Amino acid sequence: MNDKLSLAAEAAIDAADPPRHATRQALVRWGSRVVSVGGGAPVRVQSMTNTDTADVVGTAIQVKELAQAGSELVRLTVNTDEAADAVPRIREQLDRMGVDVPLIGDFHYNGHLLLTRHPDCAQALSKYRINPGNVGKGDKKDRQFAQMIEVAARWQRPVRIGVNWGSLDQELLAALMDANAARAQPLDARQVMYEALIRSALDSARRAEQLGLPGEQVLLSCKVSAVRDLVAVYRELARRCDYALHLGLTEAGMGTRGTVASTAALAILLQEGIGDTIRVSLTPQPGQSRSEEVVVAWEILQALGLRSFTPSVTACPGCGRTTSTVFQELARDIDQHLRARMPQWRKEYPGVETLRVAVMGCIVNGPGESRHADIGISLPGTGEQPAAPVYVDGDKRHTLRGEDIAGQFIALVDDYIRRRWGARAD
Ligand code: SF4
Repeated sequence: MNDKLSLAAEAAIDAADPPRHATRQALVRWGSRVVSVGGGAPVRVQSMTNTDTADVVGTAIQVKELAQAGSELVRLTVNTDEAADAVPRIREQLDRMGVDVPLIGDFHYNGHLLLTRHPDCAQALSKYRINPGNVGKGDKKDRQFAQMIEVAARWQRPVRIGVNWGSLDQELLAALMDANAARAQPLDARQVMYEALIRSALDSARRAEQLGLPGEQVLLSCKVSAVRDLVAVYRELARRCDYALHLGLTEAGMGTRGTVASTAALAILLQEGIGDTIRVSLTPQPGQSRSEEVVVAWEILQALGLRSFTPSVTACPGCGRTTSTVFQELARDIDQHLRARMPQWRKEYPGVETLRVAVMGCIVNGPGESRHADIGISLPGTGEQPAAPVYVDGDKRHTLRGEDIAGQFIALVDDYIRRRWGARAD
């Protein structure tokens, strides 16, 4: 009976982790750097600059920051001749700085002109984003879309057909609304909007293939700004195609709201195996680094157990059992220390990004949580002995005392990393 129960429980656990949506794999290249997207590759993190692309130095510096924060692809606005002219110079500047992250050009309205007038720009970009709602109107639409696809095919560049509900193809939407009105039982307007988003992406993708772009080089996105709409649209999109999918909640907003909304939307879809690359569209707070959107994207993937970029620090929230901010400061100091050292450690200690550290406030959950981490500390709560046990690989190995518990613990973490991931480690 017990065996039957445990087998049933295992089946339920397996069922909660469905396979990834099968997609074709796009290869985004720059020099020897190849970023595979889709087809079972790890979910990729991308971001977008907010500098004036015509500002070569400012844009190159921001691209470098985004790449160092973990962005595997970086998108730039290419909206004017000056911006298109700057793109190859940004690329050269990045190459000189040793930054080989592939660049994506974001085109609206005049992409057909910019890509044909500026072949150096077309070549310096590793991928193009085309919004089918902003390609042109009437009979110009097909011709201008074809011009961009022909450039992509010539340079063998993947293209994201990026539909956005804020710039949805109005002719297509009107045609679907008319068809819906003629139905015996019309769908509600929201469902028609979903269908217009999906149809715009799929029709454009098929047109791109007819024009000679291989299906593997086509990626799709259908971005909306409400979580439930995004989930509904992508579930249906995934059901109807095997193109690699770019996920993102458009106009997510600022700060906590943008972070939570993006996390809610992306987590549902990623947990269902939908999504090959993600972007978190956060509006930076004044003075905040643009790289925050990359940090959030990685935190989402890491929280879902899909990928690791930076060691994770598990910290309890604290409660009435903690009398000081010591453990909050220690958790913050450890997190900052790990993030600051990661660019170097990533080269010296491959695999270090999977490290799990616990910083706990008292004896209630401290020892248990610390045992589950690779290395964890349980600080003394109110009325407990003024000593902090440290657990390494599940065993209590040290007891720290005195004024500089933080410094001692950081030294133990560094030592653990060296021993476990250093070149001479077994
Ligand atoms: S581990 Fe202790 S201090 Fe932290 S939240 Fe739990 S009871 Fe409070």
